[in-house]
Order: sequence, then C-alpha cells, then structure tokens
Amino acid sequence: MQVPAQFEYQRATSVEHAIALLNRHGPESRVVAGGHSLIPMMKLRLAQPEMLIDINDLTELAELHFQEGTLRLGALLRHADLLASPEVGLLCPMLHDAERVIADPVVRNRGTVGGSVCQADPSEDLSGAFCALRAVAVIRGCSNAGEAYTRTVPMREFFTGPYQTVVADAELLVELQVPIFPDAGSAYVKVDRRSGDWAVAAAAAVVRFDGDTVTDVGIGLTAVGARNFVALEAEEYLRGRAARAEHFAEAGRIAAEHCSPADDQRGPADYKRHLAGELTARALERAVARAGRGVKWRSR
Ligand SMILES: Cc1cc2nc3c(=O)[nH]c(=O)nc-3n(C[C@H](O)[C@H](O)[C@H](O)COP(=O)(O)OP(=O)(O)OC[C@H]3O[C@@H](n4cnc5c(N)ncnc54)[C@H](O)[C@@H]3O)c2cc1C
Repeated sequence: MQVPAQFEYQRATSVEHAIALLNRHGPESRVVAGGHSLIPMMKLRLAQPEMLIDINDLTELAELHFQEGTLRLGALLRHADLLASPEVGLLCPMLHDAERVIADPVVRNRGTVGGSVCQADPSEDLSGAFCALRAVAVIRGCSNAGEAYTRTVPMREFFTGPYQTVVADAELLVELQVPIFPDAGSAYVKVDRRSGDWAVAAAAAVVRFDGDTVTDVGIGLTAVGARNFVALEAEEYLRGRAARAEHFAEAGRIAAEHCSPADDQRGPADYKRHLAGELTARALERAVARAGRGVKWRSR
C-alpha cells in the first residue's frame, strides 16, 4: 500500500487565513482542494508537502455567477456542480461537453475547477477549454509588507509548463472568469481510450460571426503539446473567413501541423497529431451549429 510521507494539516477558515498560512509555512506547504490529484501524488511521493492547507470550508469559493456578460466560477466549484448548472449549459455548452468526459462521478463530485487548472496536467480537459474561451484567472496573495493583493492572468498565460502555473507558492487561485457572447457557439470534443479516461487528444472551439464570416475564434487543444493549450495559427487562419467546412478542415490541418504531441501509452505522436486536426474541425463545426444553425444555446 502506498502511504504519503508525514505532513501537518490545517483547515483554512477564510481566503485571508489560507493565504496567511501559505505565507507562514512557505514553499513546503500546499493547498488541498478536491485532493484527487494531490493525494495520489503524495502517496507516490511525487509530492511531499510538509503542511497541507485544506480550503474545503471556503464555501464562497464554490459559487457560480453570471454577471455582466461574464461567467464567474469559484476555484472550489466541483466538476459535478458545473455540470449540473443549466445556466452553464445554455451560456457555454463547451464547459458541459468537457465536464461530461472528465473521469467518473466519484472524481467529479470531489474534484474542483481550480484544482484542475492548478494541477496543470497536460491532459487536463478544462485547460484547453478555458484557453479557447479566453478565460481569466483571479489570484489572491499577500506581499512581503503584508498587503493583500488581487491579480488577474489570462488563462493563455497561466500555464508555464507541464504541472506548472503562474500561481506563486503563497498565492491562491480564487476564481475563473469566462467572457460570454450571446452570438457565440462553443463545443469540446475528446478522444479517450475508454469512457472517462484521460484524453488521447481533445479540441475546444468557440466561434463568433458577422453574417457568415468568422469574426473571432478560440481553439484550445488538450494533450497534444500545443503551446499554451491554444492553436494560435489556426485561429489566425480562420478569422475573417466564411464559416465553411473546408475552412474548418484547413484550420484543423494547421492546428495539427503546429502542435507537438509525444509518443506515450495513450498512443503514437502521429496518431495524436491526426486527432488534433480532426477534432479541431469537428469542434468548430459543432460550435458553429450551436451558434444559430441548429442547436441554439443548448447543451447536448
Ligand atoms: C481517476 C482519475 C481520473 C481523472 N480523469 C480526468 C480526466 O479525464 N480529465 C481531467 O481533466 N481530469 C481528470 N482527473 C483529475 C480531476 O479533474 C481532478 O479533480 C483535478 O485534477 C484536481 O482537482 P482537485 O480539486 O482534486 O485538486 P487537488 O488534488 O486538491 O489539487 C491539485 C493541485 O492544485 C493545487 N490547488 C488546488 N486548488 C488550488 C487553488 N484554489 N489555488 C492554488 N492552488 C490550488 C494543489 O495544491 C495541488 O497542487 C482525474 C482524476 C482521477 C483521480
């Protein structure tokens, strides 16, 4: 049986308390949210924090609001609660697509949105989705002089490498903000080896139009080594073009060309590159269909 190394444990009673504890205990302390990534890593001794700071009592971080065109997701929002929200299904069906294929109900009942992005696993489904949506991370901390601060970071600048983010040792991710546009359509498609498994490859797309012309587009890629989880060159190609199948296929080809998948137990790099292209085209088609040419503002 795998057992974590010895550690101390404290429950934070407020965001300020959590940040104060992080400051006091330094880089050897870690926040625990759902624990679905951190605890297995501790059991394998890949992580050996000396102090665990439990944020599960911070219910203010588990809320979901739609305000002034922005969907605000607390960092402690459980996957299951995001999936259960009809508002999210209407406003941003891509997030329901992604949540539906994350693991199983046991993981979704406990795992959190914030824990997912802070874990920064290259195969995390929400990373590609939030980057496609141009979401913004809200991070709180406390300076050396003891002054509390809040900073915002676009999700496209949030990840600094595999399992690494811009969140500093003594900082807490508190919220993710997703801009919502009434004319947009969005979708997330994933290939996994069996239901609920980590992605072999996945693509996220959000598209806006003027008539038949694509005015703006976000394309996220998961598990295929795309820089910042984004298919930037494919986005550039599509912007200003007609929303047509051949353009989506070409965007997929460009996305595949610019990603760098690795050979691993989930499949060879060539196969993943092929999937990146195909899934990009499919996500775009589905997003466009949802933006008024079929399934309108409805999750499926
Ligand atoms: C069997 C299994 C299958 C899975 N399959 C998938 C899958 O198919 N797709 C997928 O996307 N995910 C999958 N997951 C991961 C799942 O989504 C987890 O919920 C997620 O990775 C971590 O969320 P958590 O709340 O459990 O985070 P934790 O394990 O509690 O924390 C993870 C990391 O984030 C840090 N952290 C957590 N919250 C904050 C915060 N607010 N501020 C700063 N740092 C923070 C922690 O210190 C830790 O370093 C799977 C997990 C398991 C166990």
